[in-house]
Amino acid sequence: MVNLVLIGAPGAGKGTQAERLVRDYGLLHISTGDLLRQAIAAGTPLGLKAKEAVGSGELVPDKVVIGLVEETLADKAEAQGFILDGFPRTLEQARALEGLLRKIAEPLHHVVVFDIPIGELAERIAKRVAQSSSSGVQVRSDDNTEALRRRIDDFTRATVVLLPFYEERQVYQGC
Ligand code: AMP
Repeated sequence: MVNLVLIGAPGAGKGTQAERLVRDYGLLHISTGDLLRQAIAAGTPLGLKAKEAVGSGELVPDKVVIGLVEETLADKAEAQGFILDGFPRTLEQARALEGLLRKIAEPLHHVVVFDIPIGELAERIAKRVAQSSSSGVQVRSDDNTEALRRRIDDFTRATVVLLPFYEERQVYQGC
């Protein structure tokens, strides 16, 4: 059993690595971005609340995403562990996660940080857009220059606070 947090900028490959871990180790993949996109597509009250922020690449309020993660973690009965992908992104979320895990008596084993040069990210996102377009999959509304700039800035801000937080807890690992 292993419980992981993946931290990486947009386009860093978190989703791809998470898919492999799910396939090879039966972990539960909890991507807050995916959960929010599903809620938006389904038009749920949560989706309506999050739609504008997600579309423009801004962070959704902490309270909303923390509630979402709490609900999803409660369902982890069958899994061999979990991968949190895209959460936490703020210190408040990191502290809330600590509280949630304490409540369900689960440890956090590793926090894996994807260290990809910023210059490479735009190229990877452009590839993702091209792949989606050519295979008839809808392109993400936040895969555009303006939203991407915000998302990369948010990631930079997040790492500044999250890395020391997790270094202190000795669960941090770069890759
Ligand atoms: P992602 O798929 O992880 O790139 O997330 C897509 C978008 O969902 C982000 O740009 C935010 O608008 C929103 N989002 C996902 N996770 C979080 C989070 N932990 N905190 C706040 N907003 C989030």
